[in-house]
Amino acid sequence: MPETSESESRKLLGRLRDVMAEPAAGQERLDRITHLIADSMHTEVCSIYLFRDSETLELCATEGLKAESVHQTRLRVGEGLVGRVARTATAVNTGNAPAEKGFRYMPETGEEIYSSFLGVPIQRLGERLGVLVVQSKRAREYSADEVYALEVVAMVLAEMTELGAFVGEGAALSALHQRPANFHGTSAQEGAAEGHVWLHEPRVVVTNLVADDTESEKDRLTGALNQLRLSLDDMLNIARTGDHEQLQVMEAYRMFANSPGWIRRMEEDIARGLSAEAAVEKEQSANRARMQTVPDPYLRERLHDLDDLSNRLLRILTGQGSETGAEMPENPILVARNIGPAELLAYGRTLKGVVLEDGSVGSHAAIVARALAIPLVINAKQITTEALNGDTILVDGDRGVVHLRPEEAVAAAFRDKTAMHAKAQERYASIREKPCETLDGSHITLLMNAGLMADLPSLKGSGAEGVGLFRTELQFLLRNKVPRRDELAALYARVMDAAQDKPVTFRTLDIGSDKVLPYMKPQDEPNPAMGWRAIRVGLDKVGVMRMQLQALIRAANGRPLHVMFPFVAQFEEFTAARDHLLREIDREEKLGHALPASVRIGAMLETPSLAFAPRQFFELADFISIGGNDLKQFFFAADRENERVRRRYDTLNVSYLTFLQRVVDRCDDAGTPLSFCGEDAGRPIEALCFAAIGFRSLSMRPASIGPVKHLLRRVDLRDARAVIDTARDSGAQSVRAAVMDWMRGQDWVT
Ligand code: PEP
Ligand code: MG
Repeated sequence: MPETSESESRKLLGRLRDVMAEPAAGQERLDRITHLIADSMHTEVCSIYLFRDSETLELCATEGLKAESVHQTRLRVGEGLVGRVARTATAVNTGNAPAEKGFRYMPETGEEIYSSFLGVPIQRLGERLGVLVVQSKRAREYSADEVYALEVVAMVLAEMTELGAFVGEGAALSALHQRPANFHGTSAQEGAAEGHVWLHEPRVVVTNLVADDTESEKDRLTGALNQLRLSLDDMLNIARTGDHEQLQVMEAYRMFANSPGWIRRMEEDIARGLSAEAAVEKEQSANRARMQTVPDPYLRERLHDLDDLSNRLLRILTGQGSETGAEMPENPILVARNIGPAELLAYGRTLKGVVLEDGSVGSHAAIVARALAIPLVINAKQITTEALNGDTILVDGDRGVVHLRPEEAVAAAFRDKTAMHAKAQERYASIREKPCETLDGSHITLLMNAGLMADLPSLKGSGAEGVGLFRTELQFLLRNKVPRRDELAALYARVMDAAQDKPVTFRTLDIGSDKVLPYMKPQDEPNPAMGWRAIRVGLDKVGVMRMQLQALIRAANGRPLHVMFPFVAQFEEFTAARDHLLREIDREEKLGHALPASVRIGAMLETPSLAFAPRQFFELADFISIGGNDLKQFFFAADRENERVRRRYDTLNVSYLTFLQRVVDRCDDAGTPLSFCGEDAGRPIEALCFAAIGFRSLSMRPASIGPVKHLLRRVDLRDARAVIDTARDSGAQSVRAAVMDWMRGQDWVT
């Protein structure tokens, strides 16, 4: 890069800084800046286009085009060369603009006489803010050096826009992060919440963008990089002691931190006049823009790593840690790119909701959010760029929609909906102590699903008769190494203490599939949900299973113990697991430890095969619980985590109900208690149908117990059964419509 262009660029940035320092209205600043750039780059035209809404760019200032066109000329994203820059977030550089594909002639600007065109995006950390353009009459392509210089200027403009330097009249000059914004993500946990944004990682604010002393900025960058490397070395040493996967990530990080290309680009930015932090942010913005277009998941993951490194570097340079001293607002709703399960758990129930930019329905964070019963929306693209700490936010976990800074009408409609929910909850509180007895006198045992100590208080509040499913894997997911037996025994004992005399059914570790332990060697299986998971892992690696069984026996310590094994696909797996438990009980007895008062050993029926197991299986199992989440995905061959198919088949599909009916009959014949503990048990209409075909025990999220009990107490199951049978005989694909019609007839559903 020639020395002269670097010093030209520094000079221009210095002049930009002066414009910023002078008190002036936003429009005036923009006008002066276009003049400065055109002058400094020796071009006839310089124009700044800013977004007036997410799809429309508006010419906000120009040197060289007709002044009347300012705030009149508008383009849609993708329209003309300016629109192309905005859409692709990359520069367009041409010596013959009118001949370019997509060139759009705008007579009001008088631009046809300008042959050469260079446009660069004004963007900040993946957020598109506008387009900066220079044009000249002489037909020539701009040099790489000039493109680079303009990109540096655009970066400074982006930061100035973010800092509110150009606020003025009209939509295009309105302050950023003030307007309402909606995000359509994916629901990962139902429920509704209203509150205020709490950013997990508050944005670093860079205020000193331009620096005169290039050498000292380079030294600052080098110092920060050294500090970054040292902290990565520390993390690497920790990772070496345990987790293989984390070790790989840390090694990739270290490689990036030494990447000559990355460091060189930042040094070049500094040579152009940017401060060290502005240089880091410029490269981070370019990286984010790339991240949005790269389809390859591996590559995108690496770009994420680089993004994370840039954040760390920025925090070192600015001294702005995650702890900004800001106070958590009332009713905090956590907004983050992504979050680990342990971090989420540390926030605990103070949070009213969670919104993530990434994440997946089956991620550990989603599992924790579900356990905490707080609404979670994932895939809310760009929300961390748009949201500010303290902003009002509404989370509709049922639809996966988030309203940021909502209009009053939207907020009012949302509040009506939540008020209706709250009213219904009050109604449920009045029947909390009443039995779940249907009009025909059947008692349906309603139990709750849990997985955290924090869930136990809900046992009393919900009116559940016990815990039908305690998912033990959460304790394993939240640590970075296998928990010790004593720790587990103490935890299980506390769970039983908290449940008092109500039964708790502990499910042994269900890992693999969507629940990959951070310290478990990744298996790289083509179909993890059908892979090495749950009891298959337990029986192949008996050490951990035995340790867990010992912890459960010790925790029971003279109390009844209920254990169930997950994902049993054939009789022998159940007998093998059961034998392990019986052997551990023998062993504990020999060691002189107190034994459980009684032991009940059950199996989860989550694969269709088990429904056809020999009669002896049904006789041997002390109880069976249907894991409908898994069973349904295998019954219909429809991945529970694939948004495209997961809702495709109705739970009340006749084939599925007929299958469930068969399990009920086989359990009845063998006298084996049967329950249903998948999510569907907590949906009132599904629960009603399950009860009608013979289920007498349902286990669900605590919040579902009220609505399910409320409905079941008003139903005669014989009538419901008749409706189901008639619908089944009529050849209907699902009995839902018939059941809903019948319920409407009873005035139960409006
Ligand atoms: C199920 O599959 O229905 C179940 C309860 O287990 P999980 O959702 O934990 O797989
Ligand atoms: Mg399951």
